[in-house]
Amino acid sequence: MNFLFTDEEEQLRATVRAFLLEHFTEEVRAENMAGKRGEGWGPAIRKFFDTVNDKRWFAWSWPTEFGGGGGNRTAQFVIEEEFYRYTGITLGGGTGAPAILSFGTEAQKKEFVPGAIKREIIFCQGYSEPGCGTDLAGIRCRAKRVGDKYIITGQKIYTTNAQNATHIFLMCRTDPDSVRHRGLSILLVPMGMPGMTVRPLWTVQNDPPAPFGTTYGEERTNEVFFDDVEVPASCLLGEEGGGWEVARRGLNLDRVGAWRYLISVMRDEDIVNWLHGDGELQDSLREDAQVRDKVAEMWTEAEVCRLMTMRSISIEQHGGKFTYEGSAEKVFAPEHSVRTTEAISQILGPYAQLMQGSPDAIEKGVFAHNILGAYQSTINHGSVQVMRDQVARIGLGLPRAAK
Ligand SMILES: Cc1cc2nc3c(=O)[nH]c(=O)nc-3n(C[C@H](O)[C@H](O)[C@H](O)COP(=O)(O)OP(=O)(O)OC[C@H]3O[C@@H](n4cnc5c(N)ncnc54)[C@H](O)[C@@H]3O)c2cc1C
Repeated sequence: MNFLFTDEEEQLRATVRAFLLEHFTEEVRAENMAGKRGEGWGPAIRKFFDTVNDKRWFAWSWPTEFGGGGGNRTAQFVIEEEFYRYTGITLGGGTGAPAILSFGTEAQKKEFVPGAIKREIIFCQGYSEPGCGTDLAGIRCRAKRVGDKYIITGQKIYTTNAQNATHIFLMCRTDPDSVRHRGLSILLVPMGMPGMTVRPLWTVQNDPPAPFGTTYGEERTNEVFFDDVEVPASCLLGEEGGGWEVARRGLNLDRVGAWRYLISVMRDEDIVNWLHGDGELQDSLREDAQVRDKVAEMWTEAEVCRLMTMRSISIEQHGGKFTYEGSAEKVFAPEHSVRTTEAISQILGPYAQLMQGSPDAIEKGVFAHNILGAYQSTINHGSVQVMRDQVARIGLGLPRAAK
């Protein structure tokens, strides 16, 4: 078993890092943040995206005919690590594109995947509804087939990025008489169709806004309402009634990537970098035995997070199916993030509460904002309780839990 990267992969890492240092300028970073806030992409970030796209780095291991680089998954992991650590940008086609590659028709792959890789097509994920998040079998949003159209009625909630998205990856009930996971389908619906309304749902991180580097620093999610929205039947992804399998596989694929572990460990790296810096507070803290013990423990756990991600990447690269492995990662990494957020706030004492805008805030208040963001990472994208259940059932072969 060899955990080291090849010379070629290390060379690729150096090339990507040098590129980012030169091209991801402060101007590009500012435009990227503005784009995330829904103010649109400026010319500098667009040029940056175009250059990255020409290099095929956005989806290095994806098929070339759909805009990928045709390379191997480990090399993509290396690129992802450099990008996420330095820019906060995740690679791949974002939510939805991996599922379209797996389940889409040739026409859908051509229509969506190259655009998603280039950031021209952005999907938001329309799964959760009021009263139904963990247990998606309770979905009520209805899509009724009438001739060559679907007519959609219902509501989604917590739809992150709906304000910027060009499409929603919508899970809805196509068979009104079905129960639980049967009769659900995925539709790829363009945003802004007549009858569709997007309403902001602000999070606790909205005021003051979270600075760059905050874990899960979403300022806004949304409610999305569908009032007799008509879409062509060709929006269906996979088979009608087969939406559960499409969504399950799509979610699993979305969970794998370097960002998955980095999002949970980058603040540990930040606090160590900060401890290395000049200042009276740093001088006293870095000699404190308890602080040293704590950061060493955090580092050890962070290495486990990285290895768990690399295992999933390796399974994917070798054409295997990861089922519970992604779930195990989704338990360990977010819980690590919560533990370390608490540890960092103990290390920093009262400074841990000072947010962006306060003159004494450490590192623009990123640690303070992180306290607000870390906990939701244990719920969002599949809660840790449910992920544990999947590990018990699929990984350990235990029967379903008693109700
Ligand atoms: C910031 C943010 C962004 C989000 N973005 C999106 C998005 O873009 N698209 C989208 O579709 N959704 C999104 N979500 C919704 C998210 O997926 C749900 O919040 C999540 O699935 C939990 O569902 P719920 O909120 O209905 O809570 P519930 O399902 O009511 O769960 C509440 C708690 O009960 C536990 N629980 C529930 N059932 C069980 C069980 N059977 N066994 C053990 N424990 C259980 C859960 O683990 C959780 O801790 C987002 C959520 C947040 C907070």
